[in-house]
Amino acid sequence: MKLSKNKSLKKLNTFMVDAYSNQYIEVDSVKDLKEIFDKKVFNEDFLILGGGSNILFVNDFKGIVIHPNLLGKGIVEENKKTVTIKIGAGENWEKFVEWSVHQNYLGLQNLANIPGDCGATPVQNIGAYGVEVKNFITSVEYFNTKTGEIKEITNKECKFRYRNSIFKHDLKNNALITAITFKLEKWEKDKAIPEKYLQYKGITDYLEKNYSKPYTIKKVYDSICNIRDEKLPKVGKYGSCGSTFTNPLISEVEYKRLLEKYPELPNYTTENEGVVKIPTAYILDKLGWKNKRVGKCGTWIKHPLIVTNYENATGEEIYNLIQIIQKDFFDNTGIRLNTEINIIF
Ligand SMILES: Cc1cc2nc3c(=O)[nH]c(=O)nc-3n(C[C@H](O)[C@H](O)[C@H](O)COP(=O)(O)OP(=O)(O)OC[C@H]3O[C@@H](n4cnc5c(N)ncnc54)[C@H](O)[C@@H]3O)c2cc1C
Repeated sequence: MKLSKNKSLKKLNTFMVDAYSNQYIEVDSVKDLKEIFDKKVFNEDFLILGGGSNILFVNDFKGIVIHPNLLGKGIVEENKKTVTIKIGAGENWEKFVEWSVHQNYLGLQNLANIPGDCGATPVQNIGAYGVEVKNFITSVEYFNTKTGEIKEITNKECKFRYRNSIFKHDLKNNALITAITFKLEKWEKDKAIPEKYLQYKGITDYLEKNYSKPYTIKKVYDSICNIRDEKLPKVGKYGSCGSTFTNPLISEVEYKRLLEKYPELPNYTTENEGVVKIPTAYILDKLGWKNKRVGKCGTWIKHPLIVTNYENATGEEIYNLIQIIQKDFFDNTGIRLNTEINIIF
């Protein structure tokens, strides 16, 4: 366990905001968690910080930042068709995905190159290129910060939804995720990946241009890494948290109303009947929010959804820009734009 006071968080958040926390504790084991529980640390104002790639510090954090550095990965069950892996919350997600692809385990390849730690992936049910992490999680283990006990809940109990889970609601601040169990399918190295992983035109276009068939796990993984490298701000060079906003879920009636103003607005079906998801980026693009600068921050050169810290902007400046974009979106659509990132005041 490592403890420090008046800790700079600048290198610990991908927005690269120069914020401080009064105290910072890095825990390496469940034993450490029990120790800080006994010292009543969880009775104070605390914040769990993974890789800091989905968090905006508007101000300094006056409480205690707890970083779960719980490492380790192991196969807990295996048969001819599937493999079940338990991984510590502090393990790096990108490395885990890369490892799974190397083993020819099917599933996580579409979630390549998403920064951060494994422990945060269930929190917002990370997703990319038509895939959500919930499809592969069998259970999540957490330390209950109110009782000091370890608990494990099933996929169903996690109440996963689009960029949402129980960890953002009922268990917010009550659960420090310690480990996650994933079930992946074993696949053949040279066998074509199932069609359901090729839903995004961007991927199929890239594959057609750069690879011959069959499109294997590795080819899809490499394509996604390359597309993301080309499209997204490079972590460490430009401050961002990827998509700042979620895509609104609206009724079909509301969607029809929006079509009058945006006749070509796409929509995606959802699990709920009569509810569709619309792409925020499409509307923000129409409103001129791609590659727009406002002071030291702005939106990304290639993507209007990504608020970017270009020149040492403060958390407050970034937050002000987020509010300006939300207002513009609302004024033009009548729909409230929610943030995907976690804003810490
Ligand atoms: C360039 C870029 C691209 C991105 N692309 C995507 C994308 O395609 N899809 C996507 O879904 N996201 C994307 N993100 C967002 C982000 O990478 C993910 O949400 C990631 O899972 C966050 O992990 P983290 O460890 O950095 O979490 P943090 O930012 O540290 O924390 C995020 C939230 O989870 C909580 N938390 C973290 N760890 C734990 C834990 N162990 N127990 C309980 N709560 C915890 C925190 O308190 C906070 O509320 C992107 C970010 C960047 C910078």
